[in-house]
Amino acid sequence: MTTELEIGLYIFILAGFLGYHVITRVPPLLHTPLMSATNAISGISLIGSLVVAGANYSRLSTVLGFIAVTCSSTNVVGGFLITDRMLKMFKRREEVGIQRRRFKPKLLLAFPVLVVAFLVVMYWIRRSGTDTHSSSAALSVVALRYFYILSAVLFILGLKGLSSPKYARKGMLLAAFGMVMAIAGTLFHPEIVNYRWITLGLAIGSVVGGSMGLRIPMTAVPQRTALSHSLGALAASLIGISEYVRHVAVGLDSVKMTTIGLEVVIGSLTFTGSLMAAGKLQGILLFFAIVGLALLFGFLLVIPIGAADMPVVIALLNSYGGLADASMGFVLMNKIQIITGSLDGTSGFLLSLLMCRAMNRSAMNVLFGAFGKIEKQEVGPAAEAMGTVRSITPEELTVLFDSIRSVIVVPGYGMAVAQAQHGVSELAKLLSVRGIDVKYAIHPVAGRMPGHMNVLLAEANVPYDQLYTMEQINPYFPEADIALVVGANDVTNPAAKNNKNSPLYGMPILEVDRAKSIIVLKRSLRPGFAGVDNDLYYNPKCMMLFGDAKESLNKLFAALKS
Ligand code: NAP
Repeated sequence: MTTELEIGLYIFILAGFLGYHVITRVPPLLHTPLMSATNAISGISLIGSLVVAGANYSRLSTVLGFIAVTCSSTNVVGGFLITDRMLKMFKRREEVGIQRRRFKPKLLLAFPVLVVAFLVVMYWIRRSGTDTHSSSAALSVVALRYFYILSAVLFILGLKGLSSPKYARKGMLLAAFGMVMAIAGTLFHPEIVNYRWITLGLAIGSVVGGSMGLRIPMTAVPQRTALSHSLGALAASLIGISEYVRHVAVGLDSVKMTTIGLEVVIGSLTFTGSLMAAGKLQGILLFFAIVGLALLFGFLLVIPIGAADMPVVIALLNSYGGLADASMGFVLMNKIQIITGSLDGTSGFLLSLLMCRAMNRSAMNVLFGAFGKIEKQEVGPAAEAMGTVRSITPEELTVLFDSIRSVIVVPGYGMAVAQAQHGVSELAKLLSVRGIDVKYAIHPVAGRMPGHMNVLLAEANVPYDQLYTMEQINPYFPEADIALVVGANDVTNPAAKNNKNSPLYGMPILEVDRAKSIIVLKRSLRPGFAGVDNDLYYNPKCMMLFGDAKESLNKLFAALKS
């Protein structure tokens, strides 16, 4: 006979395959929203947390459940809000300048109406059996099961919506609806008898998540994502501990013990690892505050990895967070948690593989945590032997702009550091007005997160149909009069094609060196993330506009205007 565990495993595997098919269709443009969307969906750990917080199992369980409810609701509210903020920014050329249309009133009205209808049905089911309490409980469990199935379908449709910027927001609205239904339905779970801690946890989580989701700047999205993973993972660990304490006296069978163990171990590892990643990205040593916690595994996993490699770690921890969620699903035998855990796990794993491929690292690197250790190596001949570096002033550059017809803008991590995306967008508009064709070249790992540049440029009102992927744009470089490199370095280094001794050798790059002339905006000749000198700067066609990218763009803009 098929056991619950076997059914759970079937669901986990099938959801993983489905997740693979849905998530591989998400274009690189939307990879950052994908990360925060799966983050929000992984807040489904909330439903297990609600039961533990409200069931009066024991005082310890209630406290652990309350913390888990607070953490998970922070993820849900913050995750959906920031995803919507990002998606609202992606516009086509003809939509720029127009305030994004709100959702149709009918659609918005349908949302609360359906939720209220659903609550009424659940309430009625619960009330109708006041006399025969057990039959009403059984009925509400059956009703819940069907609502969970519906929620799972809505989550998958939501992720499917991310395959195009056009449908992405609607998709996320469906996913949010699925989440509200799953949460609201769980409030009628027969084991829940006390709503005090649930209400408090939901209120705190919504306020914290809401302010994070509405206020966090787009440049801080990687840190927020890491912090969010840590909260989800903490919730999973706490529920695992609560379940262990609850069942240990009556004895735990090996399956239950294994799933609880997995939930707590993966959850703890992801919690510490993600906090460390957030701390490193934020530039503070947050981990000292948590060193006292005995979550040594996550600590040891992340401590040797350089701050710049945190995005790969975050995507991988996203995947671990999904596994912790799925383990929680196995512990509580809750299928929707198994499904979302599997979707989240697949998404994080695929994104980390994608980053590794774009950085020319192997999947084995990811699996065994040996990444982040690009060794500083022989960089090649001394700078003097490589040739001369030419510099240019903003005023000289304006003269160049007088005689050209096409520019390809190449943004990189320096644009994010300088917050120069608005300057880039303003300059591009001015050039377009002068009849110059402007295209943007987006490398899959430019910046520090997949899709990082897309989000920043969308924030600066750059239409997404002006953004070209590496494969699309490379054939255009030989025709481009100017390749304008704004804070990008490694993703333009020709050593990746020409120098077998370079650590970058084999990494696909933007072929900026094939443009008729190259202008690079950065502060110095210092290397980028990989710690490798860039041969491009010694190319006779290349001129350096030294300085902070935002300031240089302001000067250039002023010079062009005058
Ligand atoms: P990069 O190679 O890290 O170079 C960024 C450049 O920006 C630096 O050389 C720096 O030069 C310049 N810069 C910093 N602050 C600046 C400012 N205020 N104004 C102007 N320039 C500034 O960046 P990239 O070309 O975008 O390449 C990304 C790297 O990150 C790749 O090696 C990639 O493998 C790695 N990575 C990416 C991801 C991802 O998902 N996107 C994940 C993991 C790793 P100065 O100091 O001279 O100004």
